[in-house]
This record gives sequence, structure tokens and C-alpha cells, in this order.
Amino acid sequence: MKFPKAFEALIRQIAMLPGVGRKTAERYSVEIVSRWSDSQRKNLIQILQDINSLKLCTTCGILSEEETCSICSDPLRDLDFLCCVASLKDLFSIESSGRFSGTYHIVDSLLSPMDGRGVEKLKIQALDARMAKKPFREVLLAFDPSVEGEASARYLKQFFESKGVKVSRLAFGIPLHSTLEYVDGGTLGMAIEGRVRY
Ligand SMILES: [Zn+2]
Repeated sequence: MKFPKAFEALIRQIAMLPGVGRKTAERYSVEIVSRWSDSQRKNLIQILQDINSLKLCTTCGILSEEETCSICSDPLRDLDFLCCVASLKDLFSIESSGRFSGTYHIVDSLLSPMDGRGVEKLKIQALDARMAKKPFREVLLAFDPSVEGEASARYLKQFFESKGVKVSRLAFGIPLHSTLEYVDGGTLGMAIEGRVRY
């Protein structure tokens, strides 16, 4: 069976989202086409149009309606405390913890010389410009414990330490509600290295 062109286009568009396969995209498309009201569809069109007017915060790189995002312009945020993340997704995860009160720096991508992604992707110039205005007291490097994450963290650690900034990193360890028996050796090793005083 051949789907109508517009319907097929909708399925393909939805299937481009991460974690959404063809079957799920078909289900979502059927929902939108046959169960949503006209006003719900118009609302989605409006939202997609509104997204076009979003920009990246000139200070940290977060999506924002203004030149400066709501985090960078929040007087209650600790502007001396910086957290470096690899993506907006990671930033949302840290924000959802509710435990970080500083501001952010989102890198374009992590270091990966094999793939031609060098230090320029870490946006060092933007960091220099920020530090010229106000030096950071502490920088938290919150990258995944991957080869790229570690390489980027090492580079940024040297960069910040050469400027006299205290550098910390996320502790890696045992997930909440799990048991030692099921934690792999690598994770347990990281947890031992990152042990904290009790
Ligand atoms: Zn910002």
C-alpha cells in the first residue's frame, strides 16, 4: 500500500527523531492526522514557527528568546561557578538535578582528533572573553566518561588551571538503588577513585 504523499512525508520527518523507528513514526502520524483537532495541528505549526525565532545565548550557547538566556541573566545564579557540558541535552540533565546553581558553557563538540574535531570545537575564545569580564572561581567539567569526554576534560583542565581556576569533575560511581554485585568493574574503579570523605 502506498501512503498519500503528505502523510508519508510526515512519517519520514517524525522518524528522523532519535529513538523513533518507522513503526512508531507511523503511529504518531496516524494520531496527528486522524485524532488531533484542526486547532491542535495549527498549534503545532505555530510552535514550529516560533522555534525559528529562538537564538543561542551569546554567553553560554543555550537556546534563548533573548541575546542573553534566562540562566546567564538570573541574579540568583552563581556567575563564578561554571559547568562545561557537551550538549543542550546534558545541560537539561544537570538542570533537572536542581543541584547546580552556576552557569554553563556548551562546547560545539568533544575533542576527537581521529574525526578531525580539534580544540576549536571547545570554544576556548568564548571562555577567554567571559573570563576577561569576570574570572571563574570553579569550573565543573561534566562530560561523559568516554575517550572524547576524557580528552576534552584533560584539555580544559589544563586550560583553566593555567589561569588559576579550580577545576572539578563529576564523580562517577554507583547508580542509586543498585547493588555492588551488579556494578561493573570499571564503574566501581571510578567510584573508588572518586571516593568522598564520610
Ligand atoms: Zn546563557
